[in-house]
Amino acid sequence: MKYMHKLPDADELLEMYQLTPEQKDARETKIKEVQKILTGRDNRKILLIGPCSADREDAVVEYMLRLARLQEIVSDRFVIIPRVYTSKPRTNGMGYKGLIHNPESANEDDLMDGVIATRKMHLHVIQQTGFYCVDEMLYPESIYYILDLLAYAAVGARSVEDQAHRMTASGLQIPVGMKNPMSGDTTSLLNAISAAQHSHSMMYRGWDVRTEGNPYAHAIFRGFVNNNGKACPNYHYEDLCEFHDKYQEFNLKNMALIIDCNHSNSGKRYAEQVRIAKEVCNICKVYKDINRLVKGLMIESYIEDGNQLPGSGVYGKSITDGCLGWEKTQELILELSDNNF
Ligand code: PEP
Ligand code: MN
Repeated sequence: MKYMHKLPDADELLEMYQLTPEQKDARETKIKEVQKILTGRDNRKILLIGPCSADREDAVVEYMLRLARLQEIVSDRFVIIPRVYTSKPRTNGMGYKGLIHNPESANEDDLMDGVIATRKMHLHVIQQTGFYCVDEMLYPESIYYILDLLAYAAVGARSVEDQAHRMTASGLQIPVGMKNPMSGDTTSLLNAISAAQHSHSMMYRGWDVRTEGNPYAHAIFRGFVNNNGKACPNYHYEDLCEFHDKYQEFNLKNMALIIDCNHSNSGKRYAEQVRIAKEVCNICKVYKDINRLVKGLMIESYIEDGNQLPGSGVYGKSITDGCLGWEKTQELILELSDNNF
């Protein structure tokens, strides 16, 4: 291992690029709004929506500005938390690993530029749109560089069985959505939530720390992959009923599930997200218990439909998973809102 650069001290970086006192208050208010949905005191739904990866700031900000206008229209039904995903897990370790590895300024990995670009991207979205966002906690250490800017964090399907991720989640003061693991094992998912809801001692950033336990850690269903590599959905009525009963047996706080409409739920056929979102909405309308369990949706959406290879240069088109384009996204959200999802 070759030591390339000493990374900037996180606290110095946090101070250099800061929220204003008003923005800090607005973020706290947003977090409380999300917590109210998770505790069942607000019956609106959470929408975690945006591109699979936040690859370039101009297109991401333009997308978020459109989303901000939509949020105003649907504010009585949805609290939107945009996806600004700056670190990407890779199934075989290869390919685009996110802005944190490949900032727009660099041709090859430059993590020093990457952490600064990542913090600036989140900050610029806040400044220009008023949104506080979700990012994936792919690396427990590096989430610290942006933690004070987020309203929500996700633990991905490839990380959720990892002890360091579970324990770090237990120390975050924002809601954490934990994806089902790639295998689809719901016992493992509930164990992850239990670990995140309890307090722990751990090493973090060179410190011996105690975490408080995160009562707002909850589940995200993203479908799973069977032993033959086939994508299998887990958003159907039977999956939700079974999970509802099992979740109750674990005696966890604030039982909550978000349905991720893409990934193995859509088999990465991004356009299927429309049908899946509507199906989940219909299930919730018929079954009260499921409606109480399902607190929202995750949708992968960007300006253009589909995806492209990194470097292809189409503005607003995903360079990782295929996304629903803006027109279809807007139509879907308005329809869900009109149907009182
Ligand atoms: C994602 O949300 O883009 C993602 C990588 O999710 P998962 O961990 O479910 O694959
Ligand atoms: Mn994705």
